[in-house]
Amino acid sequence: MSKVQGRLRIAVQKSGRLAERSLDLIRNAGLRVIKGNNDLLYKVENAPVDLLRVRDDDIPTFVADGVCDLGIVGENVLEEARNGGPLAEVVMPLGFGRCTLKIAAPESLPWDGPASLNGLRLATSYPRILGRWLAENGVEAGVITMRGAVEVAPRLKLASAICDLVSTGATLEANGLVPLDTVFESQAVLIRSPQPVEEALESLLENLITRIGGVVASQD
Ligand code: ATP
Ligand code: ZN
Repeated sequence: MSKVQGRLRIAVQKSGRLAERSLDLIRNAGLRVIKGNNDLLYKVENAPVDLLRVRDDDIPTFVADGVCDLGIVGENVLEEARNGGPLAEVVMPLGFGRCTLKIAAPESLPWDGPASLNGLRLATSYPRILGRWLAENGVEAGVITMRGAVEVAPRLKLASAICDLVSTGATLEANGLVPLDTVFESQAVLIRSPQPVEEALESLLENLITRIGGVVASQD
């Protein structure tokens, strides 16, 4: 995907938990968003800005590579995408999309802190974040990666415990799981590319960041 000369690009989640709040934020920052020719791209009427609507998992790479100048994504997704390459920089937390990556297990699992996980297998969609947390805590455990339905893994005997995103805890409870420890606290963040933007767009970019900051501050 090559960049269009003379236009800023912002990567946002196409549909899902962050999609609507991301668009609201951009609109409240003064950008008049209109639908483009296709679903992937929304245009801004009153500034040279395009919104690229993608899966949230693609946003960190797009912004790190400079395919997009800004992006709105969960810190959990950004952290999981960390792979030693150039990174998208966090500009500011946005105050929505709050959730926590937690260790959870059936009540029957004896729990006396992270060491209780030694020798067990955990299911997660966040193998890198979990792997780092296990290492930090000196725990040796197996990790199986599942794209979804992590919460059913213990019932299917795929794993003894899970590491999954929790907001209300209702999903855990519905699956007979209890939260045991916190691995990562997350919310949506504004990220920017480490790749320089073309000179003519620099002040627009800075101005936009300032206005987004103003909207976020007014919502505190
Ligand atoms: P996509 O189709 O874009 O890949 P997705 O299914 O991976 O979407 P969503 O479920 O829409 O992702 O969640 C997007 C983000 O919302 C999560 O990465 C996380 O930062 C945040 N979030 C807030 N609350 C929750 C929750 N209870 N469960 C999962 N994610 C949550
Ligand atoms: Zn996703």
